[in-house]
Amino acid sequence: MQPIHVWPQEVKAQGDFVTHSALIEDRDPYTLWFRVPAEHAGLLSKRAESFVASTVFLAMMRGANLRVHAPLSPSFLRNIEELQALWSCWHRDFHLISIEVDSESESTIQASQRAISMFSGGVDSCYTVWRHTQNRCGRRALPLQTALMLHGSEIPLENTELFERARQRSQNMLSAVGVELVPLATNSLSVMPGVHRLRWFSTMLTSSLLLFQESHTTGLVPSSLAYNELVLPHTLTPLNIPLYSTGRFAIEYDGAAFMRTKKMSEIVEWPEVLENLRVCNRPDSADVNCGRCEKCVRTILTLRIIGIQDPPCFPNTLSDADIEHIRMSGIALQEMNDVVEAAHAARVRASWLTAIEKSLHTNKRRARWEQHPLRRRILRRTPENIKSIWRAIKRRL
Ligand SMILES: [Zn+2]
Repeated sequence: MQPIHVWPQEVKAQGDFVTHSALIEDRDPYTLWFRVPAEHAGLLSKRAESFVASTVFLAMMRGANLRVHAPLSPSFLRNIEELQALWSCWHRDFHLISIEVDSESESTIQASQRAISMFSGGVDSCYTVWRHTQNRCGRRALPLQTALMLHGSEIPLENTELFERARQRSQNMLSAVGVELVPLATNSLSVMPGVHRLRWFSTMLTSSLLLFQESHTTGLVPSSLAYNELVLPHTLTPLNIPLYSTGRFAIEYDGAAFMRTKKMSEIVEWPEVLENLRVCNRPDSADVNCGRCEKCVRTILTLRIIGIQDPPCFPNTLSDADIEHIRMSGIALQEMNDVVEAAHAARVRASWLTAIEKSLHTNKRRARWEQHPLRRRILRRTPENIKSIWRAIKRRL
């Protein structure tokens, strides 16, 4: 198997932006790039660890060694070796590979202590920013000065207007707590193969943070799952995320001791959150919340449990009939179940609780039917033209 070559390129300044990139010589060579507004250029490191973090999964999936044409940190390489060991245990598609480098050396730049966090504008990232800036996490508190918002993940690169509106909402929140927002565009997700798409998500976050390894001492990835919710393997966990660290730049999975209800009960004290929080799952609603999808509904109901009714970050009042009609499947069923349990624990007495219980019952019954062998048998024997009529009817319902 031919090795995959990683060739870091000269940093390019063009117009109002600077771009860090590397040529990746895989089966079909491509350029991997990260772009920030020129005003933030001084925060970025020219080291190559970001490009390795982005491509090591690809090499493991191909079973091809990586040949990196730049110096790399020995402490980073040590961690990546353990990361490989972890993923090769977790999934048979990932193989142990070697990383050959020009030379090994740690960065000679020692940043003064400051932290940078990923920031999507959702509950988890707001909680991380809030607990560190308000000194709500004891000895874990870090001087969090920078928030990094990615363009190229939930919001596609071609949709610049949508990203700009989402960025403005994040800016509204972060300005109020004195944290600098850095928007960073990258193609690191879109150039990866479609298979294991969710796995690439962790490499996109960690490789983006590593670009800031010489201007900050810690990079934070806000936890999406709490310690008691972990299901392994998963792309974002406290096991794999820290394994992208170097000896001088620690990457941490932050806030995993707390579940979503607890996080929300804290961030509602941040007034700008109730106006600008962004949780929606619908791609066309990436800058605003639709107020009707499962994630929006789950967030609205959690806010109701903690005493917040109809916050301005959601556009419409949610009725009991709307709640009864939402569609849920997979992990969303469990997450909504957690909301119902939290409502009972908080002794909520409200008609919406009956509505969501009814909806959960219907959705669970549907999920069971979708897994039923009889349904699969019927589907196998149904002609394609009949199936397309069914699909059309379902879309209209
Ligand atoms: Zn929504």
